Amino acid sequence: MSLGDPALAPIEAKLESGISLSLEDGLTLYRTSDIHGLGRLARRAKERKSGQKVFYVLNRYINSTNVCFAACRFCSFAADEFKEPGRVFRMTADQVFAKALETGTNFNQIHIVGGHDPRQLSLDYWVPLMRRFKEAVPHAQLSLFTAAEIEYMAKRHRMSFPEIVAALKEAGLDNVNGGAAEILGEATRAKICPNKVSSANWIAIHEELHRQGVASNATMLYGHIESLEDRVDHLIRLRESQRRVPGFNAFIPLAFHPDGNELSDCGWTSGLDDLRTFAVARLMLDNFDHIKAYWMIQGLKVCQVALQFGADDMDGTHGSTDEEMIYHSAGTASGQYVDDREFRRLIEGAGYVPVRRNSTYQEFPYDWTPEGAVASIGARAS
Ligand code: SF4
Repeated sequence: MSLGDPALAPIEAKLESGISLSLEDGLTLYRTSDIHGLGRLARRAKERKSGQKVFYVLNRYINSTNVCFAACRFCSFAADEFKEPGRVFRMTADQVFAKALETGTNFNQIHIVGGHDPRQLSLDYWVPLMRRFKEAVPHAQLSLFTAAEIEYMAKRHRMSFPEIVAALKEAGLDNVNGGAAEILGEATRAKICPNKVSSANWIAIHEELHRQGVASNATMLYGHIESLEDRVDHLIRLRESQRRVPGFNAFIPLAFHPDGNELSDCGWTSGLDDLRTFAVARLMLDNFDHIKAYWMIQGLKVCQVALQFGADDMDGTHGSTDEEMIYHSAGTASGQYVDDREFRRLIEGAGYVPVRRNSTYQEFPYDWTPEGAVASIGARAS
């Protein structure tokens, strides 16, 4: 491959030999002036993993509560129940259930995350609700919680990680979302989210999920006070965890959004930084099958270009009535609803083949419907 930066040649040789890249290699990739060469390397790695396919999911997305006392410095979503009662929302289990099903049942995933809310984050609330979902929409995988929420529940119920994971799995948990990883390096983590799950426990919970056969994803929050070393170190920690106990499906780079939080001076990430991060992640994480360009975070247009920089997934529809609040509180300009036809158009426009999936990347025809389903708005044929 013709590369404009000679520093990329030894990295290409390693990639061709199947040798994992080092911290120094990751930094070289981040700093190269040959952005097109970086993209070509990442695209080749993506095509070795998933060929011409790019995935999307028909999804219901719900933030069930914003009550949280963790006070992460980058967070614009959480509300203190006592200091900001006007900002608090907390859905009952009936409301969550009704919201998920209000536009029909033709979706393959229910994605729910929320704050550390003592009145909601317990097995008493979630286990009956999860069982209700499994009965009503058995075809929809439950992609619930982050490791931070699971740690909170474990503490509350005085359960070990194996015990809480077993209880959630028994209730129907299919996948755990990748949030709360933020930056795993302890020094930076202590500055941005000192009250949240530690990096050691974040990894321990995901490894326990994988041991018990529950899939998960991983994220990285970039573009705030972290260094490039923090970013590459984070990717290496994820790669090592995946080697120890495989089970991560996708890695999702999350660009920091500055509105309404304590780190607002850090500003927005640039499009080039976003694209570099997709590409570096694809090249460092040689044991992850999927790199997700989540349109809600970097926007549809950057995420389409990211498909040429190593990404092979665009996440997917939120239901037409879903209201994502975490990134909308922090200033994202992405709307709330994108039709599956739009994902297919963007993926085809980038030269790839759109493939509908569920949380664990089983594939479905684009016009698949569950038996007896009421067609949802997000499932119209292309
Ligand atoms: S990022 Fe999550 S854990 Fe941290 S304050 Fe916000 S809602 Fe709470």
